[in-house]
Amino acid sequence: MPTGRFAPSPTGDLHLGNLRTALAAWLFARSSGSRFLVRMEDLDRVQSSPAHEASQLADLAALGLDWDGEVVRQSDRFDRYEAAIAQLDAAGLTYPCWCTRREIQEAASAPHVGPVPEGAYPGTCRDLDAAGRAERAATGRPPALRLRAQVASATVADDLLGTITAAVDDVVLRRNDGVPAYNLAVVVDDAAQGVEQVVRGDDLASSAPRQRHLADLLGLPAVAYAHLPLVLAPDGRRLAKRDGAVTLADQAAVGRTADAVRELLAASLGLDPGDGRPIELARRFDRTTVPAGPWVPSTALLGG
Ligand code: GLU
Repeated sequence: MPTGRFAPSPTGDLHLGNLRTALAAWLFARSSGSRFLVRMEDLDRVQSSPAHEASQLADLAALGLDWDGEVVRQSDRFDRYEAAIAQLDAAGLTYPCWCTRREIQEAASAPHVGPVPEGAYPGTCRDLDAAGRAERAATGRPPALRLRAQVASATVADDLLGTITAAVDDVVLRRNDGVPAYNLAVVVDDAAQGVEQVVRGDDLASSAPRQRHLADLLGLPAVAYAHLPLVLAPDGRRLAKRDGAVTLADQAAVGRTADAVRELLAASLGLDPGDGRPIELARRFDRTTVPAGPWVPSTALLGG
């Protein structure tokens, strides 16, 4: 059965941008009769907490968004990620990498490396020979494990953005503290959970081509994407806590109910709220009316 999902990281309260993404993902799914899953991306054990998870789920429920089945936690699924790593490893598609963040930055900006897309790994450890690896290993720093990407860039279709072409670099598969990396986990989980449609914030749009490549190498089905433009503060920066009433609790404190917030979010997605019930919104949702630009909530909406 067609399946969509919302996959927050339980590292804080959901803000209006996350809530809008959740509503959009729910509308994409429910308007087409799809299942809708919630997955907690709690690989970051320092920032994630059960309290944040509980408050995020409570906020989704308060908005009237329902989901199918149990909420899945990435922290419970390390064996699946390790199985995928073993598969890539057996195909010769991984290599250990000892680079620190700083070394990566320096290498990426070194003149002889050639242009490296912003944030992409410049490949320093990719072609180390046995002696080079032994030398790096002798530092005692545990290595991360990277994908040996087979293409330099890839293109995916996006329901909201058109097409996305971006660099595919040698993404980290397992961090040097042993924790599986986000790009791997998201690809493994979406496939394992039968997710066909990924609706999420467009801060992850440039990651979609590398995730598609990873799925291809693992022999997993391709998902469809819809990346939603970000929510910006009235001054044009990315919306943040300092901008006012950005969470559902903040909104309640300025006198706005969850139902009213849902109506505002629906309007921001190009939907006339009608009688405002979620199911009614799903009936009328039309992805072609979702605005292409960022949403900038007014100062009044933010309680100012
Ligand atoms: N966990 C990611 C986040 O909260 C979203 C990942 C995804 O939707 O693919 O930003």
